[in-house]
Amino acid sequence: MVELKTPAEIDQMRAVGRVVATALQRIRDKAAVGMRLTELDQVARSVLAEHGATSPFLGYQPSFAHSPFPAVICASVNDAALHGIPGRYKLADGDLVSIDFGATLDGWTGDSAISFTVGRPRPDDIRLIETAERALAAGIAEAVPGGRLGDVSAAIGAVARAAGYGLHTDFGGHGVGRTMHEPPSVPNNGRAGRGMRLEPGLVIAIEPWFMAGGEDSYYVDRDGWTLRSGDGSRAAHVEHTVAVTADGPRILTAL
Ligand code: MG
Ligand code: MG
Repeated sequence: MVELKTPAEIDQMRAVGRVVATALQRIRDKAAVGMRLTELDQVARSVLAEHGATSPFLGYQPSFAHSPFPAVICASVNDAALHGIPGRYKLADGDLVSIDFGATLDGWTGDSAISFTVGRPRPDDIRLIETAERALAAGIAEAVPGGRLGDVSAAIGAVARAAGYGLHTDFGGHGVGRTMHEPPSVPNNGRAGRGMRLEPGLVIAIEPWFMAGGEDSYYVDRDGWTLRSGDGSRAAHVEHTVAVTADGPRILTAL
């Protein structure tokens, strides 16, 4: 069942959203060539500790995973799109990094992701990241009362198709609230005018992820978590937790 949040509850979700945004900003500031992904995970752990927040990622084990997730961030580099485990890999010049991070504070959860490059960026990577960000903005713009969930999905899918990027709807957005993953599911492609009607109080994570090669296939790495593009092309993933309000979309995970 979809749980609508009151304005006071949305304010509480904004508080945890700020913690999420703070951690992602700090990771982005610290990430550099030569840094290990484990160090980026440590940055996020310190932000959680500073705010007395906990991690909804650590120990998370959905049905598709054969082991609990061992970290507080997902760090997905280059051909990795989602769910990358932050291991001892050292960032190299020109790497494309996607960091997904969530936090729980006072019983409410926020979920957000950013993609960026370290060192000298490849122009194609910048275009991929900017397109994913544009798709996120287009999806957020549709998160208004009276709209339909399919409007959000269709807006994201249209941006990916126009750019020629690969899109897969197996993983996408979702309701967020007392837990990280709640109904409804918010696919990254769909038909405008279809799906549930958007009402004030609906809080959803909108999270486009695109693969530069244009193929829609992916595979899961031997670690059981890391999702990689089927053709080895690079991927980007961006996400915000967004509340539908009478005044329009409110981004809860911006700084
Ligand atoms: Mg996320
Ligand atoms: Mg999410």
